[in-house]
Amino acid sequence: VERELVQWLERTLPPHPLLRLGIGDDAAILRWAGDGDVVVTTDAITDHVDFRLAAVSPEQIGHKALGVNLSDLAAMAAEPVAAVVSLVLPRRGALELAQGLYRGMLPLAEEFGVAIAGGDTNVWDGPLAISVTAIGRTTSRGALTRGGARPGDSVLVTGALGGSILGRHLAVEPRVREALLLHRQYELTAGMDISDGLALDASRLAAASHCGIALELDVMPISADAERLAQTSGRTPLAHALGDGEDFELLLTAPPDAAAAMAREQPLDVPITLIGQVVDQPGLWSLRAGGSGLAPLEPTGFQH
Ligand SMILES: [Mg+2]
Repeated sequence: VERELVQWLERTLPPHPLLRLGIGDDAAILRWAGDGDVVVTTDAITDHVDFRLAAVSPEQIGHKALGVNLSDLAAMAAEPVAAVVSLVLPRRGALELAQGLYRGMLPLAEEFGVAIAGGDTNVWDGPLAISVTAIGRTTSRGALTRGGARPGDSVLVTGALGGSILGRHLAVEPRVREALLLHRQYELTAGMDISDGLALDASRLAAASHCGIALELDVMPISADAERLAQTSGRTPLAHALGDGEDFELLLTAPPDAAAAMAREQPLDVPITLIGQVVDQPGLWSLRAGGSGLAPLEPTGFQH
C-alpha cells in the first residue's frame, strides 16, 4: 500500500516554493525563508474516538485532521508552511481510504499555502488513526501565546459559538487569515483557538496568564446551530455556546482600546465580539450586564 500511495502522491501533490524535497526520500527538506521562529503542532485523531468512519467520508476526516492543526497555528498567529501526515490504516480498502484522506486535505493545503511534505503509512488490523504535524513560522510580530493576558484587558471571540456537532466540527475553517490580520493591525496580548468549549478554554487561557476571565453572558455570540440543538437537547443555546467543543474560533485578549477598535471596525469576514474582561481574581467568572460583581462560572467543555 505504501509504495502505491507514494507513487500516487508524487503524481497528485502540487509543487510548493518552499519544498526543496518532498515525498519519496528519507526526509523532506524545506527552504526556510525569512527569520521567523518555527512553530510546530501535532494532533492525532482516531476512529471511534474522534469520528466514526462508518458515518463520515474519508475526505471529511482528512479535512478535519489538517484543519485542526492549522487552527492551532492560527491560535499562535503563525503562518502555515508545511504538514507531514502519518496514517495507520485498517487493512481492508487501505489505499482507497488513504487517497480519500489526502483528497480531503489537499484543498485546505492549497487554500493556506501548506506543502504536504511527507509522512508515514502503516496498515494494521485496528481502526484508522491519522496524525498530522503542521509547521508554521511567526511573523515579525512574534507568536501569540496563552500567557500574555493582563487584568484590565478585554476578551474577544471570532464567529458564533455552539452546536458544532451539527457539522462545523468536521468542516473546520481554521482562522489563519483572521489571526494574522488581527495580529498585524491591532495589539493582542493572548490568544488560543476554541477546541474544547469556550468556558473551559477561557479558563485555560486565564490560568496560563495567571489571572481570571469574566464573561458577559448577555452578549455571547450564539450560533444558529446552538439554537437549533437547544430545541431538542434540553440545554439552553447559551449552555451550548459555552460548553460545546470544536468551534475552532479564536479567543483573544487585547488592551481595551484595541479591543474596542476591533469590535467597532469589524475587520474580518466573520464577526468579532467583545465578550468579557480579564480580571485579577483567578478562575472563570460571569458578569451580567447591569449586575453587580462576579459570579463563579463552571468551566464546561470537553475534557480529554
Ligand atoms: Mg489549540
